[in-house]
Amino acid sequence: MPEALRSQRNKTILPGPEQLGRASEHLEGADPRDIIEWAVDTYGDGLALSASFGGGEGMALLDMISKVTKDVTVLTIDTGFIFKETAEFREEVMRRYKLPVEVLRPALTVEEQVERYGEQMRTCTPNLCCQIRKIEPLQRALERYDAWMTGIRRVQTPQRAGTRIVAWEDRYGAAKIAPLASWTDEQVWAYVEKHDVPVNPLLHQGYKSIGCEPQTRPVHHDEDPRAGRWSGLDKTECGIHWANGKAEPTSF
Ligand code: SF4
Repeated sequence: MPEALRSQRNKTILPGPEQLGRASEHLEGADPRDIIEWAVDTYGDGLALSASFGGGEGMALLDMISKVTKDVTVLTIDTGFIFKETAEFREEVMRRYKLPVEVLRPALTVEEQVERYGEQMRTCTPNLCCQIRKIEPLQRALERYDAWMTGIRRVQTPQRAGTRIVAWEDRYGAAKIAPLASWTDEQVWAYVEKHDVPVNPLLHQGYKSIGCEPQTRPVHHDEDPRAGRWSGLDKTECGIHWANGKAEPTSF
């Protein structure tokens, strides 16, 4: 792997995997706003934000980015299974923040997916469904970007504990930046409250982590926030942050 990479969008020379490793170490402990500024300076309009409009961290990150630049494109995936409340909230939020937004959609409609793979593909074959409806649309979109930011945090799941601030991801052919990787729940909600950041209304109705409607349920106060995702199934991640949808780190 070369030390430096040529931008997919223009002739700019961008940091390669090893340089990103050093940058990640350097940015460890930095304020997320400084990490965002580094990303904007490094990637310019080759930088995107991936947002699901489901959790507080993604909204905090969107708010921070909007105060640094209005040029970062927000990529959001509409799987065809998202809550009506999430779709409405997304429209309301994007009117407020005025960042460019791209709604990514799967190549197959839900009906085409069911016709090709069977009735269980309405909700019950999560890895293949997530591959078609989440991972592939993001892969196609990131062919047009050099780097993407995400709100994932280390404390969310054991699989996310090794998240680096910046890392190269072969699978997407782009750098992945997680400015909030080291943040606690308390830091997220303190930011949301202090800056009056809007959050998905379902978070006030017992949901603590919001994904697709068929596989998301409210949780009790003493349950893990992500216990309501794929409840009863042997799955805790959609696979966007994991190689082939399995619990294998990519370049973390
Ligand atoms: S979360 Fe469920 S419904 Fe949504 S894409 Fe994945 S398997 Fe399909």
